[in-house]
Amino acid sequence: MNTRHTLRTHCARHLDTMRAEGRYRDFARLEKIADRFPLYRWHQPGGAPREITVWSANDYLGMGCHPAVRQAAAAAIAAYGAGAGGTRNISGTSPEHAGLEAELAAWHGKPAALLFGSGYVANQASLLALLSALPGMIVFSDAMNHASMIDGMRRSPAQRRIWRHNDLAHLEELLRAAGPAAPKVIALESVYSMEGDVAPLHAVCDLAERYDAITYLDEVHAVGLYGVTGAGIAERDGAASRIDIIQGTLAKGVGVVGGYIAGEAELVDYVRSTAGGLIFTTSMPPATAAAARASIRHIQQDTALRDRLAERAAALKAALDRAGLPRLPSESHIVPVPVPGAEACRRVARQLLERHGLYITPINYPTVPRGTERLRLCATPFHTDAMIGCLTAALRDVLPLAEAA
Ligand code: PMP
Repeated sequence: MNTRHTLRTHCARHLDTMRAEGRYRDFARLEKIADRFPLYRWHQPGGAPREITVWSANDYLGMGCHPAVRQAAAAAIAAYGAGAGGTRNISGTSPEHAGLEAELAAWHGKPAALLFGSGYVANQASLLALLSALPGMIVFSDAMNHASMIDGMRRSPAQRRIWRHNDLAHLEELLRAAGPAAPKVIALESVYSMEGDVAPLHAVCDLAERYDAITYLDEVHAVGLYGVTGAGIAERDGAASRIDIIQGTLAKGVGVVGGYIAGEAELVDYVRSTAGGLIFTTSMPPATAAAARASIRHIQQDTALRDRLAERAAALKAALDRAGLPRLPSESHIVPVPVPGAEACRRVARQLLERHGLYITPINYPTVPRGTERLRLCATPFHTDAMIGCLTAALRDVLPLAEAA
């Protein structure tokens, strides 16, 4: 046995299978044009850069391009340098980190908050730490929960019970069956990233109270976008005080990068003191924290962007419906258009880019189950009526290619 040869052969075969199934991921090189978001330059292989419209950006409000955020980042780099230079424990906690944590806690109406390098790590590290805290824990996980939550749950010693997506009767059945003795955690998202639908938070909290479970809510696709001050769906629905841990990202609505949790002081401090994903890694650059703070300040004070986002999402859905195009019944700014079959979905996305200058990511297994592949459209406040018109015309042009396949 020659380990290097065997491993290389295995990797090459696996990649060939992914290519054959249309699941091999090519990363298109996209250059964001900060003053003209959602326009980007596509650096196509062997060709001149071409201006295109992006419909799959998670910078949902364009805050990553906002002048106040860019200025805050540039000023902070000038003042503090580019990197944090240490873990949180080893010289990597600046006033920007501490200030941002205090502001995140206040935003979500919680006593404490804790920053991580990304939303992925926030979920993975926090769930792993909390679910390892007590013996015999059971975690009740919505079937559509993100890979980062699944990763944290799987690594923990807790038993995992999966409830059918947004199905309260199934959740209750599983909670009841677990019996009263086991410590229980219910883990869910508010806006589901691949469906665009929204969890019934109060009803889940009612069950949590009835069966003595704590609640862990991923608000990654809602932070900045929903609620009076933009804190998310829990704020919008008046449910924040009923959620034990709210997890969020600074990478989507806030437009920068980083993740966090907010909740009870003891729980947050326990994660801070025990989670490997926090302890053993360099903290985010202070300039990143400064940019996120500027972004959040703007989001809290100015409702115009999220009002415009809601209006644009409605306009996008109405235009798709008028054009007779298929879409999943989303309740949010995320609008999935089903194109079953990984190869068909990939080909349609390619044609949209090459023929029409529209970038829309094809979503396939393992992100969604096989056979439910889709194009994931994200409206932003900056997608105009003309852009929506181009999109519907382009989809009508290329979707028959999928059916013909
Ligand atoms: N949770 C959900 C529901 C997500 O969709 C994602 C990423 N798309 C994350 C967590 C991870 O967030 P981040 O990109 O900040 O790592």
